[in-house]
Amino acid sequence: MSHLGASLKEVVGGAASKFPWNRSNLPKQLFINNEYVDSQNSKKLKLYNPKDGSEVANDVSLAGEHDIDTAVAAAQAAFPVWRKTPPTVKRDCMLKLADLIEQNGKTFAELTRLTLGAPFGSFGSFEVNLASEALRYFAGWIDKFAGESYPADDGFMKIVRNEPLGVTAGIIPWNGPLGNVGMKAGPALATGNCFILKPSEKTPFGALALGTLIKEAGFPPGVFQVLSGDGTTGALIASHMKIRKVSFTGSTATGRKIQEMAAKSNLKRVTLELGGKSPAVVFDDANLENAITWCVNAICGNSGQVCFAASRVYVQEGIYNKFADGYKEAMEERAKAIGDPDDDSTIMGPLVDKVQFEKVTGFMERGKSQGALLTGGGRVGDKGFFVEPTVFTNVPADAEISRNEIFGPVSVLNSFKTEEEIIAKANDTNFGLMAGVFTQDINKAMRVATEIDSGMVGINCVSLCFLTAPFGGSKESGSGRENAINALRMFTEPKTVMINLTY
Ligand code: NAD
Repeated sequence: MSHLGASLKEVVGGAASKFPWNRSNLPKQLFINNEYVDSQNSKKLKLYNPKDGSEVANDVSLAGEHDIDTAVAAAQAAFPVWRKTPPTVKRDCMLKLADLIEQNGKTFAELTRLTLGAPFGSFGSFEVNLASEALRYFAGWIDKFAGESYPADDGFMKIVRNEPLGVTAGIIPWNGPLGNVGMKAGPALATGNCFILKPSEKTPFGALALGTLIKEAGFPPGVFQVLSGDGTTGALIASHMKIRKVSFTGSTATGRKIQEMAAKSNLKRVTLELGGKSPAVVFDDANLENAITWCVNAICGNSGQVCFAASRVYVQEGIYNKFADGYKEAMEERAKAIGDPDDDSTIMGPLVDKVQFEKVTGFMERGKSQGALLTGGGRVGDKGFFVEPTVFTNVPADAEISRNEIFGPVSVLNSFKTEEEIIAKANDTNFGLMAGVFTQDINKAMRVATEIDSGMVGINCVSLCFLTAPFGGSKESGSGRENAINALRMFTEPKTVMINLTY
């Protein structure tokens, strides 16, 4: 917790906010212009609990064209107000929202868990923390993203201003529904934009519940709005002529469509955070226990539904057998912590829904003829969408389970001989999000980290990110970066003002 955050808590006084939402009073309306309103669209979203397949709701708003136009008009009206709001006031709104999210953190995690299935201890608390810390981090940038100036040696002074874009939007996936809010709304609002959030149709409740707190935090109407919906809502946003930027996190297939819709409409700016098939490379001299711990956490966290999961593990011949034994044992230990996500002792919950369950178990079944099954390979229990942590070994590089993102707790484990060979293998993918290099030799670690073509590389760690450093992928894992100063650049346009001093 930042010092600033701590002092603001005292200002807020720890008083319980009037937060009406919980699992028996779910937010289902759209949040437009600081009010909860019914959608003009008659279509609704249906939601299920992945721990048992039971229906959670069948009447959640699905924003259509009219709703989006209304929200965009409100955002356009709010933009001149928010843009000129003093930095200290903007900062206080963002810090207060961060505190309110934190104060209601358990409820937010529960609203998300209801349809995502992620246990509080291993994922829910992390997500709430990420959402509030991201808002705090970007609030801190408000008066520090100063622009540039270049000297008038040639007679012209050049001042570069970081101008907000106007109406911006974030389209987010189901696997990190709260964390993504902070990572997108944070930089958008801090740089003076208005922001429309479109949560996934599979996990809308946390985002919709934010409305109450957005208002309480003091944001003017139209500055921060939430429109639940499915791909049709997302497509309307991506094609909208008045939305100037979409920050998208989701699958590569959808990312491609968004880029296309942006190009075909108003050439809106697009940031894409997409899928991955991230390698972890373990050399003979690695600390075995450390490598195993990171590799297991990296593929089991959020039941493997993590974009930067280390799903391809390569181990050098000398320690391959030892690693395989330890990895298998640790994956089987993790399987024992699978259970009811509402139970505090559970570490690993179910997959998000039937579609994802069928996708992942399909890969598992087909994988059995593509490689040797080391552990796992099936469902857990007979209700809900639980699956075993699964590892396949000796899988050819062109096999489907080596190439495609599975988005479940399924990895492929192979051996390698030389540094040269493993750099080629690690890069033999269309993705480029994350990689891990495990070795005690810093020179080797730096050589490999330099050669691997991905947006992020961990040395003696993998599948992690920080608000303070750029987050994102190369190749088909995306374009643009989130977090750090990079996220602010993604939500602003540099404007060069040239002053003629010779006049
Ligand atoms: P998805 O692409 O199916 O959906 C993501 C969002 O896009 C949802 O809000 C959805 O409603 C919307 N959408 C769907 N079709 C659309 C369309 N035609 N036009 C506009 N919007 C549309 O992805 P998902 O299944 O929700 O999430 C899983 C994927 O997200 C995985 O591939 C994962 O790797 C990726 N992901 C990437 C990161 C990252 O930062 N790189 C982080 C988390 C998840």
